[in-house]
Amino acid sequence: MRQLMHAALDALRAPIDVFIRDDDAGWNDAQLLALIDLTARCAVPIDLAVIPHVIGRGLARELRKRRAAAPGVVGLHQHGSSHLNHESEGRKCEFGASRSVVAQRDDLARGQAQLREHFGELLDPIFTPPWNRCSEATPALLAELGFVALSRDRGARPAQHALQEIAVDVDWSRHWREGGADAVVAAVTSGLRERAGDGAALGLMLHHAVMHADERALLSDVLALMSTHPHVRWRAMRELLLPTTNTTRGPRACTTSA
Ligand SMILES: [Zn+2]
Repeated sequence: MRQLMHAALDALRAPIDVFIRDDDAGWNDAQLLALIDLTARCAVPIDLAVIPHVIGRGLARELRKRRAAAPGVVGLHQHGSSHLNHESEGRKCEFGASRSVVAQRDDLARGQAQLREHFGELLDPIFTPPWNRCSEATPALLAELGFVALSRDRGARPAQHALQEIAVDVDWSRHWREGGADAVVAAVTSGLRERAGDGAALGLMLHHAVMHADERALLSDVLALMSTHPHVRWRAMRELLLPTTNTTRGPRACTTSA
């Protein structure tokens, strides 16, 4: 693994931006906090897509505490509203074509208000739709509510809308299920090559609630390796919204690799 990753990183002609988006904050709090501990050991920022009507007060308090202790390391943004599927057929979607614009707007606004109650100004104006998909009407509703970016799969169907897209490239747990560590490393290395080609940031998507211990161990190894390589610039997602005020993060070592 180390050899393959190192070779891919060495082959990049310039540093590239990389970010981590972890979905479903509100489910399996113990695993979420374990993941935050893991990324913190490498001083790698992690952006949490938080489910507004699922997150409890205890977790919200803990996240505010961690955010205060290490500003910039934990990002917080909205992930749907209740993470419910409203489509009766086809692919799962919370904000899909079968819901009216009014129903979508009300639900998005309720979720936003709920998260603001927990996090106030700490909340980033980014929206990750559950299952990485939403209707063509959704981006305009998000813009009305003050969101400035939408985060979906790199392959999401482009639509004309006013929001910035911050796409994710690697579905970590899906690759793990399909082919274990080799498949994950192959996906990360091919993502590095692709993003080096187009200059976009490489997005790693995690789902802490379903990650196995072996998956976390691999993540720890990958972050340790990437964090000490000069061709990787870890970014918080909010930094990708403000290119003129980005701060470059240099190489560093993890304090442990547990
Ligand atoms: Zn989700």
